[in-house]
Amino acid sequence: MPMAKEEVAKYREILMDKREALMGQVESLVQDAQRSTEATETSKSPLDAVENASDTYEQDFAFIAMESEEVLLRKIENALRRIREGTFGECEECGDPIKPERLEALPFANLCVKCQVLEERGLRRNRDEDFAVLEDADAEEEV
Ligand SMILES: [Zn+2]
Repeated sequence: MPMAKEEVAKYREILMDKREALMGQVESLVQDAQRSTEATETSKSPLDAVENASDTYEQDFAFIAMESEEVLLRKIENALRRIREGTFGECEECGDPIKPERLEALPFANLCVKCQVLEERGLRRNRDEDFAVLEDADAEEEV
């Protein structure tokens, strides 16, 4: 059963607001990251480099934050696209309707709970691979 038009319009508005807020955040993070990069590049003496070590950390952090904002932004864009295509509120994986409570909490949800759990299991496998890489790095240090 397709979702009622008013219902879709409500989610569309929520998603548009969220997208606008995120775009502002991503932009300010990009500016922060650029400022840090400039500061690092203009420093020449080794002493400056040490003083800038914390800046570099902040810079990395800004990039990490930016990445997750962008992931969220992509999800929102995806949800808005599905509103246009008339498939909003359906699970992208199995086509089942996504529960209204779930959409209420996560208006950009593209999977039903069942498929989301499966996907998270997939992610956990990837995380195990990251651990394997870390273990290799440790082994090298001991040599
Ligand atoms: Zn599903």
